Amino acid sequence: MIIDFRSDTVTKPSPAMLDTMMKAKVGDDVFGEDTSINELEHLAAGMFGMEAALFCPSGTMTNQIAIKCHTQPGDEVICDESSHVYQYEGGGIAFNSGASVKLLYGDRGRITAEQILAAIQPDDPHRAHSSLVSLENTSNRGGGSCYEFSEILKIQSLCKEKNLAFHLDGARLWNALVAKKESPKQYGEAFDSISICLSKSLGCPVGSLLLGKKDFIKKARRIRKVFGGGMRQAGFIAAAGIYALHNNINRLSEDHLHAALIADAISKKDFIKMMLPVETNIIIFELTNTISAPQLVAKLKEYDILGYAISPVRVRLVTHLDISKEMIQKTIEVFNQL
Ligand SMILES: *Cc1c(COP(=O)(O)O)cnc(C)c1O
Repeated sequence: MIIDFRSDTVTKPSPAMLDTMMKAKVGDDVFGEDTSINELEHLAAGMFGMEAALFCPSGTMTNQIAIKCHTQPGDEVICDESSHVYQYEGGGIAFNSGASVKLLYGDRGRITAEQILAAIQPDDPHRAHSSLVSLENTSNRGGGSCYEFSEILKIQSLCKEKNLAFHLDGARLWNALVAKKESPKQYGEAFDSISICLSKSLGCPVGSLLLGKKDFIKKARRIRKVFGGGMRQAGFIAAAGIYALHNNINRLSEDHLHAALIADAISKKDFIKMMLPVETNIIIFELTNTISAPQLVAKLKEYDILGYAISPVRVRLVTHLDISKEMIQKTIEVFNQL
């Protein structure tokens, strides 16, 4: 039994999900004729109370399309230093949009309205034009930390006042919604655009959605085509998304419980110097100088437990749909022996 905590992307479609996929009604989506994709886009937009949605192969693509839609070359995007849009999308903000980035140093990936206000460029030809604020909820490098919704509302009104677009990288927004008992509609009202992943915590093999107003999604559809992301009978994978939205959201509390159980059991180990607060399904801890992160990951692998060294001293474990209670127990036993 391999216990794979490297990421919540490692899940395989369940038999029930596969069954739904095999029975999907499909068509050519470039002609707008794939009924499963249309249904998924309609379902997701409805959940968030947003006008429209666009199905894409990845969260990188939905983020990059959103940034392209919201900016002009030479503009500046305001985001946290650890953001996926900045760190892990291949320099896409510069490559795809010709925009620069204003990095803020937030608290576990979360930035405040106050920090953003101070980062907005003055109206001066020497300066880049601030045009977009991008948040990440939950924050991956922040250890699955969640925003307080009151802060999001403050940032929303600042963006309105200063005429900035407001984007959410919600790759793991579902985890935040479940952990904070929030509703998708709150988020739909707050942001101009939201990217959500189906292939992270929800257990789909592929797929992300970009949500926004009708005009915005119309423009996004054009940019998806330019980025090479127009798909044909992709309803087979959209059907997995429909299944996941109906079946795999509420169960995320189980993943959060599993993460908390591990965190509780291992945080006192003498080789762990510091652990980020565990709010959702991500555990990030820093090691003392007795063992490096790659060494600990190698040690765990001897017991068929897979983790991820996110830096020379930090290890990340992520719980997900394919991690059972038994696997959590075995992991705790192994840590107790180390
Ligand atoms: C995984 C992830 C994405 C999207 O990644 P893809 O692998 O392109 O789907 C975006 N943002 C965050 C925070 C992520 O963790």
